[in-house]
Amino acid sequence: MKEIILAKYGEIALKGENKNTFEDMLLRNIKRRLKKVGRFDYSRKQSTIYIEPSEDGADIDEAVRRLKNVFGIGAIQKCAVFPKDFSAVVQNLGEYLADALEGVKTFKIEAKRSDKTFPMKSPEIQQQLGDAVLDAFPHLGVDVHNPEVTVRLEIRDNGAYLSAERIIGAGGMPVGSSGKALLMLSGGIDSPVAGYMMAKRGLVVDCIHYVSPPYTSERARLKVEKLCEEMTEFCGDIIFYCVPFTEIQEALRDNCPEQYFTVLMRRLMVKIANKICERDGYGAIITGESLAQVASQTLPALYCTNAAAEFPVFRPVIGMDKIEITEISRKIGTYETSIMPYEDCCTVFSPKHPRTKPKFDEVIDAESSFDFDKMIDEAVAKIEVKRFKYGEETVFLD
Ligand code: ATP
Ligand code: MG
Repeated sequence: MKEIILAKYGEIALKGENKNTFEDMLLRNIKRRLKKVGRFDYSRKQSTIYIEPSEDGADIDEAVRRLKNVFGIGAIQKCAVFPKDFSAVVQNLGEYLADALEGVKTFKIEAKRSDKTFPMKSPEIQQQLGDAVLDAFPHLGVDVHNPEVTVRLEIRDNGAYLSAERIIGAGGMPVGSSGKALLMLSGGIDSPVAGYMMAKRGLVVDCIHYVSPPYTSERARLKVEKLCEEMTEFCGDIIFYCVPFTEIQEALRDNCPEQYFTVLMRRLMVKIANKICERDGYGAIITGESLAQVASQTLPALYCTNAAAEFPVFRPVIGMDKIEITEISRKIGTYETSIMPYEDCCTVFSPKHPRTKPKFDEVIDAESSFDFDKMIDEAVAKIEVKRFKYGEETVFLD
């Protein structure tokens, strides 16, 4: 009996003219994710990608696990494939469904006939398949409202597909289909979640991180790299830009009014991000800012930071509270790393009483009292770049 995986489109199914481009991208992303699992043949039809092992020993369960994190997939089904002959399905269903129905008490049947030339109509298939399942597993009862297992039979163009498990996919749009953006990644809980949310909307998400050695440690940086590695599970490959920020922070400490330190620092971070966006072709900046979370995230402070940006700034967690953000962080597997207690450069030299309502004119005055442009260029020139590859050891670029 041949077992294959169906990856059914989510949002892409609703696309019109350019659907093909999205499908190509999804297929490419799927192939990359499964490259190390084994060899598969791929085909697509009827808003579904068919993933068929082309060798014995391809680990289907591992493939399903990986596919769960691929954006653009609405649902994943492991299926047995039969010729379009109802008796072949009935003959083999006992063997195929045995594992899935072990210890189960209730089930229901869903039948779908997208090949309208098939002689039985859906209600008839449903009825006869239900009887066949009951014959093979007499301990089962039917529960159409709240079944433990739904047994599905789909009569498609290429064959009859029998499955007992449908997994909800990651949803969203294929990574890369919306362009690419630069995530300001700190070691906290919020920014990896922000990256996840924008990757889900089809962006390639690469990361920029600011470090201030010796005030911030090597271990703090490694923690952020670990977050990057964890994010590849759903973002795919990630480029990581690590910016030396010590000299800028020292200059800020020595030359600017203390109460503006935080907002000026954030403006300078954004200005460096602008340069990378321009140089390397990113179309937006992403941050993990959440309104009112801390002094730098009040409306007047966000106004000042935002005004430094030359690209759209996406703040997908702006309206979420910490509990909601934490929930996603746990779901995507970055939480445990995020709570490791290492320092971030944001806390270096940060004033006890930052202005929560900085005045824009005063901020600009304070910033222009010192020539930061040269320091920005120097910091950009010293950026270290690493590439984090999905499922691979990390490789140094520079
Ligand atoms: P996180 O959002 O990761 O939990 P946080 O809660 O400590 O960080 P802030 O320090 O106020 O929040 O930072 C707000 C946002 O600024 C972060 O979400 C992140 O996008 C960006 N940011 C802060 N520190 C850094 C850093 N060292 N490098 C890159 N981006 C940073
Ligand atoms: Mg935060």
